[in-house]
Amino acid sequence: MVSNADVPAAPPRSRWWSGLVLAVLASAVAAGEPVLPGTDYDPAIPPLHAVVRHGFGEDITAPADLTRYLEALAAAAPERTRLVEYARSWQGRPLHYLVIGSRDDVARLDAIRAGIRRLADPRGADEAELDRLVDTLPAVVWLAHGVHGDEVSSPEAALVTAYHLLAARDPLVASWLDETLVVIDPSQNPDGRARFVHHYQASRGLVPQPSPIAAERSQGWPGGRFNHYLFDMNRDWFALTQPEVRGRVRAFLDYYPLVHVDLHEMGTDSSYYFPPPAVPWNPHLTEPQRAMLDTFGRGNAAAFDRAGYRYFTGEVYDAYYPGYGDTWPALQGSAGMTFEMASARGLLGQRSDGSLVSYRDGVRRHVTASLATIATAAAERDRLLHEFLAYRRGPGDRTVFFLPRRRDPGRVDALAALLRDQGIDVRRMGSPGRYCGEALPAGSYAVAAAQPAGRLATTLLAAQSPADPQFWAEQERRAAKRLPVEVYDVVGWSLPLLHDVEVLSCDAAVAGLPRMDDEPPSGALSLDDGAVAYLVPWGERASARLLARALRAGLTVRAATEPFEHAGRRYPRGSLILPATGEGVADRLAGLAGATGATVSAALESWTGEGIDLGSEHVSTLRQPHVALAWDTPTEPTSAGAWRYVLERKLDYPVAPVRIRDLDSAWLDQFDVLVLPASSGYAGVLSEEAVANLQRWVRRGGTLIAVADAVEFLATLETPLLDTAPEWRVADGAAEPAAAVDGTGDAGAPAEPAATTGEDDGRGPVPGVVLDAGTVAEAVRPEEERPPAVPGVLVHAEVDPDHWLGAGLPARLPLMLTGDRIFTPLALDKGTNVLRFAAADQLTAGGRLWDGAAAQLAFKPAVVAQPTGRGLVIGFVVDPAFRGVMDGLDILVANAVFLATGSAGPVPVPPPLDRR
Ligand SMILES: [Zn+2]
Repeated sequence: MVSNADVPAAPPRSRWWSGLVLAVLASAVAAGEPVLPGTDYDPAIPPLHAVVRHGFGEDITAPADLTRYLEALAAAAPERTRLVEYARSWQGRPLHYLVIGSRDDVARLDAIRAGIRRLADPRGADEAELDRLVDTLPAVVWLAHGVHGDEVSSPEAALVTAYHLLAARDPLVASWLDETLVVIDPSQNPDGRARFVHHYQASRGLVPQPSPIAAERSQGWPGGRFNHYLFDMNRDWFALTQPEVRGRVRAFLDYYPLVHVDLHEMGTDSSYYFPPPAVPWNPHLTEPQRAMLDTFGRGNAAAFDRAGYRYFTGEVYDAYYPGYGDTWPALQGSAGMTFEMASARGLLGQRSDGSLVSYRDGVRRHVTASLATIATAAAERDRLLHEFLAYRRGPGDRTVFFLPRRRDPGRVDALAALLRDQGIDVRRMGSPGRYCGEALPAGSYAVAAAQPAGRLATTLLAAQSPADPQFWAEQERRAAKRLPVEVYDVVGWSLPLLHDVEVLSCDAAVAGLPRMDDEPPSGALSLDDGAVAYLVPWGERASARLLARALRAGLTVRAATEPFEHAGRRYPRGSLILPATGEGVADRLAGLAGATGATVSAALESWTGEGIDLGSEHVSTLRQPHVALAWDTPTEPTSAGAWRYVLERKLDYPVAPVRIRDLDSAWLDQFDVLVLPASSGYAGVLSEEAVANLQRWVRRGGTLIAVADAVEFLATLETPLLDTAPEWRVADGAAEPAAAVDGTGDAGAPAEPAATTGEDDGRGPVPGVVLDAGTVAEAVRPEEERPPAVPGVLVHAEVDPDHWLGAGLPARLPLMLTGDRIFTPLALDKGTNVLRFAAADQLTAGGRLWDGAAAQLAFKPAVVAQPTGRGLVIGFVVDPAFRGVMDGLDILVANAVFLATGSAGPVPVPPPLDRR
C-alpha cells in the first residue's frame, strides 16, 4: 500500500510517473476497496453512497442515479468541473459529459476549446500561434463508457474515476490535471442500461447468482446492449442515424480529444483487452498513431502487471471499420482506443473453468486502465499535440470527391450534410461546373482529400479502403481451411454506396468553392387553382416520406403502375397522383412538401405527353396499410430494430411490433403487412398454428416480408411460402455457376449440390485412390456445407424493370451482403426475381469478396416476390434496413409496404408496354 506521503510532487511534462503511478494503481486495486486505498480524499467531494443508495461497485447504478451523482460532483467542485448535457436518448434520457480539469483550465475552457479547434483546422493559421497552442493546451482525454448498455462495469468505473480525480488530495492527480483535461461520458446508452438494470433488479435474489443460466445473468430479448431502436451504436459513428451518436459527434468536434477511449465488456471467460489493436488496420491511420497506441498500451500493461491483472493486446479487436468508437476518433487524429473487460453480466459471474469474475473486478480494472491512460497522456502531452497537429494538416493527396446533385437531389444533400456534420469540409458548387470530365449541375458537392479530416473523408467516400494484402492472403488461406475469417465487422462501408449516391473522383482544385454551411434546399411545390391533380415523381426518398404522411393524413393517393410524361417531366412507375378535388388539398400538400422535401407539381389536365394518362386503369388507389413487425425472440434485435427505425423514422410511418407468440392469433387479420426480420431461429419457435395462420393470412391478401434467414424459413416449410431453396457451397474453383442450381431440395434442407458424387453411400470400405497436392483439397471437401460466409461486402444487384417492386429504382444498385445465404432463383411460373446479384466480375462494389463466393452468387436472387392466393410473399435475401443506413433502399422498402396494398391488390406482373 502506498500512501500519499510517498508520492513526490512531480515536475510537469517529464517521465517521472512511470514507476510510481503504477505502484499506486496496483495498491488501488488490492482486495475489497473500490476506491484507491491509502488515498486521502477530500470529504467535501461526496462519494457515491452519499448520493444514491449504494457505494462504488456495490450495485449497478441506474441511469437516473448516474446523472444525480454527476450533478453532485459538479455541484461540489464547480470550479474544477463542467457538466454538459450533450444529447437526449430516444426515450428521453439525458446524456452527459463531465469535464474535469485544473481550476485554471476549467476557467479558460472556452479558450481551450477554441485553441483545439484551431489546431484541428490549421489551414491559414500563423505558425507561431500554432506553436503557442501546442505549448499551452492540455491534452484532452475523453473516456466514454457503456455504449453497450449491458456492459455495466464501465459506467460505474466512470464514477470512481471522476471521484478520484476530484477528491484525491494527491499531488500525482494534480500533476495529471496540469497536463490533461479529462472528459468523462459515463453512459453513452442510458436506454440500454435502463433496460438491463430493470431486468437485473427484477431477476436477482438474496445473493448474486454467478451461474451462466441464472436468470439475472441471462437477459431476455433484446437485452441491454442496444438503444431504443436496437442499434449497436458502436457501429454508427459515421452513419449518425441515432440521436445519442449525433450528440456525441457534435461534442467530440467541440474538443477534438487527443485521446479517446471507449470502455466495454466482453465474454466472461476472457481477461482484459487494450490496444494496440489487431490487424487489419484502416489504411488511413498513420505510423505515428500506431506508435502512440503502442505507448498507451505499454502504460496500461505496466499498471496491469503491477496489479497482477491478466490482459491481452493485438487480438480480436481490429481498427478497420470506421464506425467504431475507437477508429472514428482515430480517423480524426485522436489516439482512439477500445478497452474490454471480461463481463460479470451482473454482480458476479462464473467462468467455464469455475473461477469467478465480479462487477467490482470490472470496475477496478477499468479504473486502473483509465488512470494509467491519463498518466500516459500527461506524460505524452507534447507529443500528442504535435502529432495531432501534423495529422490535421491532412494527407498529401490531391483527390477530390464530387457528389453530382442529380437523380435524387434530396439524398445527395443528405449525404453531403452527413459528411459536414462529422467535421468534414464540404464545398457546394454555386453554378454548373466541369470536373472529372463531366458537366456537374449547380449545387453539386466537392470534398477534397487534402483537408484536416481528409483521411476520414477518404475512407468514407472511396469504394475501397484496402487492408494489408498479407492480411487478405492469410484470410484466403484460412477460408480454404474453413477457419473463421479474422475481421471483426463489415469490410465495405463506402457511404455513396450505402446511400446509393453517385460519386466521382479525380485530381482537382476546389478551394475557391464556398463551404456548405447551411441546410440544403428543401422540396418544391407548384400550386395551381386549375389543377386536376398533383404529381410526385417516384424514386426519391422524400417522395416516400410524402406518401407515408399523405396516407396518414387521409388524403387520396394513387400510384401509377406504368411510367408517363407530363409537362416535360418524366414520371417513373410508382409516381404518385393526388386528386386536386377536396377541401384544402393544395394547402395540406404544400405543408407535406415543405416537411418532407418532396417535389410536387400541379397537373392542369389528365392528358399526358407520353405513357399512360392520369385516369388510366394502370393507376391504383393506395390504401393506408396497417403494418406489423415480428418482435421478440428469436428475431435478431438489430434487424427488427432497424426495420422499426426505417419505417418509423426514415419513412415516418407507424408500425406495430407484434410478439412472435401472437402470430397464431386471428388478430393478425387487422394487418396488411407483416415483416419477419432476420432470425435463424423461426423453425424452432414458430408453432404449427402460427405457420398455418401466416399461410392463411397471406392467401387472404396479406403481404409477408421475409428478411435474410427468414427467407430460408419460408422456403423450407412443409408447404413452402417461397419456391426457392438455400444452396450448398459449390466446389472451390467450380467455374460452372449453374451447377448448384437445382431447386428440388427437400423441404428443410438446402438444395442438393449437383456436384455431389456419392456413388457409394454404403458404410463399408471404398475403393482407394492416390492423392497428390492437387487433389487432396477436393478429397477433404465436405459434401454439404454452407457457402462461404461474407463478413459484410457491398455488392451490385440488378433490378427487374418490369416488376412494380422495383418502381423508382435505378437499373443497378448496391446492397450490403452478409452471411452465407445463397438461394436458387424463382421459376417464372412461381414469381419474380425482382433483384438479382450482378455477374461475378461486376459483383463487388465495396469491400472484398472471396472468388468462390462471387462465382456462386452471380445472377442469384437478392429480392424475390411470389404471389400466393390474394397475397404476396416478398423475400429479401439481403436486409435493406441494414443498420438504418441504406438510404438508397428506402424506396424499395416503401414499395414493399405501400404499393403492395393498392385497392386492386398486388399487381404481380404488369402488362408489357406494347399491349397499349
Ligand atoms: Zn461493447
